[in-house]
Amino acid sequence: MNSEPAGGLLVVLSGPSGSGKDTILSELMKLEPKVAATVSATTRKPRSNEIDGKSYHFLSIGEFEKRIDEDAFLEYVRYGDNYYGTLKSEVDALLKKGMITVLVIEVRGAAEIIKKYPEAISIFLVAPSHEVLEARLRRRAEEDEEGIKKRLMIAYTEMERCRDYKYLVINDVLEDAVRHIYEIIQKEQQSERGRKNA
Ligand code: 5GP
Repeated sequence: MNSEPAGGLLVVLSGPSGSGKDTILSELMKLEPKVAATVSATTRKPRSNEIDGKSYHFLSIGEFEKRIDEDAFLEYVRYGDNYYGTLKSEVDALLKKGMITVLVIEVRGAAEIIKKYPEAISIFLVAPSHEVLEARLRRRAEEDEEGIKKRLMIAYTEMERCRDYKYLVINDVLEDAVRHIYEIIQKEQQSERGRKNA
């Protein structure tokens, strides 16, 4: 792949666990049918509400490492005790269809994508306060105390990377954050069209 994504628009959405990335994404998809998300691969165990092939491609460590050897990933990281990675095939397929292609990924993977695609729209999402972030993680109740503590630690270090992104959005009231991101995408689409017509 070269550095000019063909057809669609590439959007990188990052933010700590509990910042509300997945909820925002599903609201955006309702608002704009051209928005689509890539399905990442991971070695993490599925949560109770997750479906293989839809939420993630859930792989064993061996399967994931085989794909690393095959150069199947646009980026991948070790995060906590697990691997996560964006498959080239997922991104290619959506961009070819002209979709607004959203990668919901953590900061190190995002930095790789921003380097490869400087035109990508990068958005960092934050919770309005540490207290709200912690409360959201606890409400999810999918992890034990140690898991929550680990995610909070990662969250605080991730927030230091928000300056690498073009946009920072605070997710206080969900509808406002969704509208804000939708407006960012529309504005970027217009300037993209302007660049192409110039
Ligand atoms: P979770 O376990 O909560 O689903 O995801 C943990 C973190 O990994 C989140 O910040 C999520 O956005 C990120 N993530 C999910 N898929 C990918 C991926 O393909 N690449 C990278 N770098 N991060 C990912």
